[in-house]
Amino acid sequence: MEKFALHDQHVHSHYSADSCQPIIPYLNKARELNCRYFITTDHIDFSLGPDWDIDVKSYLEEIKQLQDKYPDIKILKGVEVGYFKKNYKTIKSHYQDIDLDVINLSVHFKDDIDYYNPYYFKKYGLENTLNIYFENILEAITNFDDFQVLSHIDYGFKTAYLYDSTVKIEDYKDILVKIFKVLIAKNKALEINTKVQSFLPVEHTIYLLNLYHETGGRKLTLSSDAHQLEFYRYRFEKYQKIIKDCGFNYLCYFIKKEEYHYPI
Ligand SMILES: [Zn+2]
Ligand SMILES: [Zn+2]
Repeated sequence: MEKFALHDQHVHSHYSADSCQPIIPYLNKARELNCRYFITTDHIDFSLGPDWDIDVKSYLEEIKQLQDKYPDIKILKGVEVGYFKKNYKTIKSHYQDIDLDVINLSVHFKDDIDYYNPYYFKKYGLENTLNIYFENILEAITNFDDFQVLSHIDYGFKTAYLYDSTVKIEDYKDILVKIFKVLIAKNKALEINTKVQSFLPVEHTIYLLNLYHETGGRKLTLSSDAHQLEFYRYRFEKYQKIIKDCGFNYLCYFIKKEEYHYPI
């Protein structure tokens, strides 16, 4: 049998507050690309900013209808959970009715800081804000257990880099190693987010991958974080090659939260 294409495991649809992309065009694209599975991972994230939640009932109904209509591709269920210290213990109640295949864990905000917005890096200082950001990720993966994948570890770093391109990921080696050690000990996967990587030099991605590998990390997912159809499996070939060149020989995917390997 012809090898299937790895499905994208970080995809936003109209169930996310920041996307209006219907699911069907994604699904058609995944089938055209010879994916065996398809998944969306919409936001469940409650910060001081606008609350992002999924209409679970509509989502489950739509997935059921689509699965009946498209029997040749298995539709999986996922979410992107945003860690926030104030409510990480109760956030589970928002997705408990979904029989999930994968949970991507993210850190987008802390208190009054929005890591997407360069304003806060300017306000609190670049280095200081990056230290807060990486400590926040360490806290998230230490406190929270109900996830399979840490999404976009360099989401806040990318904001800092776009503000000041002299910032270097190497300067955060110690905290990155601490983060990797917790992920490895907890058997979680690290996501290579092609959207975030595309804003950063390729040397940045290679540095992260080498450091993760040296620390003993082997579990990776490759995902686009698409909010629109055009970005489904965005630059997968390019980053799959980089990952392979850094010594990794498989990528992970998840079904019913169980880990499967896709050889590369
Ligand atoms: Zn995210
Ligand atoms: Zn996302």
